[in-house]
Amino acid sequence: MPELPEVEALAEFLREHAVGRIVTRVDLAAVQAIKTFDPPLTALAGLELTGASRHGKFLDLDVSGVHLVVHLARAGWLHWRENLPTTPPKPGKGPLALRVHLEPAEGELPSGFDLTEQGTRKGLAVYVVRSPSEVPGIARLGPDALELDAEAFGALLTGRHTQLKGTLTDQTVLAGIGNAYSDEILHAARLSPFKSADKLTDDELLRLHAAVRETLTGALERQLGQRAATLKGEKRAGLQVHARTGLPCPVCGDTVREVSFADTSLQYCPTCQTGGKPLADRRMSKLLR
Ligand SMILES: [Zn+2]
Repeated sequence: MPELPEVEALAEFLREHAVGRIVTRVDLAAVQAIKTFDPPLTALAGLELTGASRHGKFLDLDVSGVHLVVHLARAGWLHWRENLPTTPPKPGKGPLALRVHLEPAEGELPSGFDLTEQGTRKGLAVYVVRSPSEVPGIARLGPDALELDAEAFGALLTGRHTQLKGTLTDQTVLAGIGNAYSDEILHAARLSPFKSADKLTDDELLRLHAAVRETLTGALERQLGQRAATLKGEKRAGLQVHARTGLPCPVCGDTVREVSFADTSLQYCPTCQTGGKPLADRRMSKLLR
């Protein structure tokens, strides 16, 4: 799932390539993706794209005061395209959800971008609103993960009897971090994903705050300037533990382990994070019983 660094890099890419150009047409190919009806999608046609920004994991395209807000969900992505086909796409076929056509610069081919979603579980969501705060997921967002100093970060975790993994990924607590970067952040901070957020020492809190900043800014720097089409591959390249079950930890050489849940999993290094002890994997122990 695209998280803060990926979405910020997409916003930056669009600021460079798309802002300042006129939206000529928007094609909706996945009817279930659009979550609003007023203003209609057709309201965007003929207006200039004036800004691209991010709220947590939401991408916000300001089209002269009408906002096209996108949540890419688990398997959504944005593909920049030169020479877009002009025939409207067939609805419900393939991964295409939405296509945005931009007026070509003089002497250039028409370009624009596709929002796509792989797989059968469709979660990509598109909103056309007058203000981003009309999107319920944005209205509920906690402070942005990159905007908190250590003190504010500590205050945010105080009194939360929830496990660090769940706390870091709860968008109403902290905006922008998902499954992949929470694994990476906890590994960098040498903290167990199951440790309670209100049980951190001052030193652990500082480590966790530093790990949030370093992990997210490091990932963002790797991705800025990349073409939108290749951003996804770059996420994998920088990861230490996430999606690396069974591989050696790059820090200590121990084997990266996994805890599975109903529809997700987390990865961690026992030596770096849990005093060498493997965490209980309820699904595994159930199978073994
Ligand atoms: Zn390790």
